[in-house]
Amino acid sequence: MIREKDGIHFDLEEKVVADSRKASGDVNIVSHAHMDHVHQGDNPVVASELTRKLAEARTDKEFESFESSSYELIPSGHILGSTAVRFGDERKYLYTGDVSLRDRAYLNGFQPVSADVLVVESTYGIPAYRFPDQKEIEAEIRDWVQDNNNPLFLFGYSLGKAQKIQHIVEEATERPIVAHGAVKKMNDVVEEVTGLDFRAKPYGENKDMLEDNAIFIGPSRFSRNDGLNKFVDKVDGLKAGFSGWAAQEAFRHRGGYDRTFPFSDHCDFDELVQLVEKVGPEEVYTHHGFDEAFASYLKREKGINARALKQNQASLTDF
Ligand SMILES: [Zn+2]
Repeated sequence: MIREKDGIHFDLEEKVVADSRKASGDVNIVSHAHMDHVHQGDNPVVASELTRKLAEARTDKEFESFESSSYELIPSGHILGSTAVRFGDERKYLYTGDVSLRDRAYLNGFQPVSADVLVVESTYGIPAYRFPDQKEIEAEIRDWVQDNNNPLFLFGYSLGKAQKIQHIVEEATERPIVAHGAVKKMNDVVEEVTGLDFRAKPYGENKDMLEDNAIFIGPSRFSRNDGLNKFVDKVDGLKAGFSGWAAQEAFRHRGGYDRTFPFSDHCDFDELVQLVEKVGPEEVYTHHGFDEAFASYLKREKGINARALKQNQASLTDF
């Protein structure tokens, strides 16, 4: 039985719990170091070395590795260190965690493996979310940076997206880059545990560079900050947002962006379908985003036994 509570619970012979802050399983999986997935307990975790290092650097806590050859880690192409996990004896279970099939900046996409039961995220599980070719997106980012000599203000998730944006921008221009504290902190963590290196200086003491033609990188939520927006107006800056949600026009209005790029760390709709077909499972469980819509699509169009894991339904059966 598979349920969504705090994270995903697999009630098999061993109780396997994935991406839960409570880590209440016999075996606990941490698929990647985004903090909504990182558990708070002390028990060892099934996670890549890089995920453990990133989580340690973010929490000042030690993450011991759960050593077992029964849990196969497959890079999932979401952020540095992220992995899907395959496990089970007769029946093979594949838990993707957050996943992307695309090669982007310095990261390679997920290579699907076969399984009988697939648990897949479905953030962009409707046809409205189809992203252009990644090379095209990255070329458009470089062109936009090179064509606009105004101060530029770029926004994306602080661990993962922000570093990929910087990687692309650093290749496109010699202009100075300044990073908001939340991004700078993640740059430092990534630099500490990988061979990557970013040239961004901290925003606080280097704000004046943005009166010239520097490039700012900050977390998405900061794009709506009043003080920031007054400053952008004052220096005649341009704002850009980077997210899969950019496939819909509403994203531009919400963030007050001049330009958006559908640059995502998740699969788009077609890639989700492709992923499911390559895994070739008998059963599919979807979670996150358009979970119901994607499960019905798989049932209707592909004849696959699919259903959405619903948090509320799961907790109802618990009482
Ligand atoms: Zn994530």
